[in-house]
Formats: sequence, C-alpha cells, structure tokens
Amino acid sequence: MRAAAAGVSMERRREAGVGPKRWLELWPVYRQLTGGDPLGRGHAAQSPRSAGLTARTEGADHVAKSICPYCAVGCGQRVYVADDRVLQIEGDPDSPISRGRLCPKGSASTQLVNGPQRARKVLYREPYGTEWQELDLDTAMDMVVDRVLDARDKGWQDVDEHGARVRRTLGLASLGGATLDNEENYLIKKLFTALGALQIENQARI
Ligand code: SF4
Repeated sequence: MRAAAAGVSMERRREAGVGPKRWLELWPVYRQLTGGDPLGRGHAAQSPRSAGLTARTEGADHVAKSICPYCAVGCGQRVYVADDRVLQIEGDPDSPISRGRLCPKGSASTQLVNGPQRARKVLYREPYGTEWQELDLDTAMDMVVDRVLDARDKGWQDVDEHGARVRRTLGLASLGGATLDNEENYLIKKLFTALGALQIENQARI
C-alpha cells in the first residue's frame, strides 16, 4: 500500500516536472538541516505559497500616524495610504500606549473607512416625516448653519442673573462619541467654545 502511494507520489512529481534534487530541497527538514535555519522557524518551514505572499500594506505610497477612533485607551495606529485611499490600518509600534498592539475592534478600523455600509450621502427626515430623503452636502451644511445660529441666538446671555458679564449661550451643547478622533475633538471643542457654548462633552472615558 505504502509502496503504491510512493509510486503515485513519484508519478505526480514526474508529471509536475520536479526532479529528485528539487524534491529534496522542498522538504522542510532538509532545508532546516542545510539552510541556516536549524530551529525551523524561518524560511525552512515556509511553503512556496507563503513565500509568494505580500503584506497588505505593501502598495502604500505613504503612512500617516493616527489614534484608534473607537475608545479612550487611544492606541496608536499607522494608516497606510495609496492614491489617497486607505489600504490598511495597523498598530503603531512607536505608541507608548499600545506599543504596536490593537484589539480586534481597532484592528478592523479599515472597515470604518472602506466598509460598504458606511453612509456616504446626507440623509434628512423632515419633522413628522416618515421617509429619508437625500440632500447634497451644500444644502445640508446651510441647514445646519441656520439651526446652529438660531439656537445660539435664542440661548444667548450677555449677563447672568447677578448682572455679571458672561457672554455665553445655553442654547447649544456638544456630546461627542468614541469614534471621534483627537483631531476632530480638538476642532469641535474650539468651534463650540468660540460659539459661546458651555456644555461640551464626550462619552469616551478610561
Ligand atoms: S478600541 Fe481597541 S485598539 Fe482602539 S483604542 Fe480601544 S483598546 Fe485600543
């Protein structure tokens, strides 16, 4: 039985054009003993398929450093970009917080950018409406500006109840979420403070 199997194996090798020397070189134990990898943890144990694989980050034309957007641990990330498109997001070994590691959620950050379920159009449902309608971005931004200025004006106070000058609005508040990155949070804080808002918060906590 074994002789028959060996015969078939020899037959296949002949069909594939693999000679005895090449066959021996393909044997991991032979490569381990002769190829400078005595523990068999490197190229000696590598299959031809593995040898032909390339990293998902290989085609990147530049790498941007960022912070994982999902939670307040703030693990460091490297964002690999090619032709202005995010190819892959990996942990950043330079980060003193995470030293190259990401949890499963952070490891899947690429999907946040490229996932097919990401909303790419502005959807609006008017008061008492039951259907969503698509808006172009300029129209939506104008509507947001109108509402922000209106709420700011309605809640504006020049002085408080004791007559102290406060120049603030209680008509606006901001509550950020964990998917905001630190750059976005910086800009939101700056914008709302400039508008005179006091209640500026984020739900992410360590
Ligand atoms: S979600 Fe995971 S990878 Fe992202 S900051 Fe939190 S612990 Fe780090």
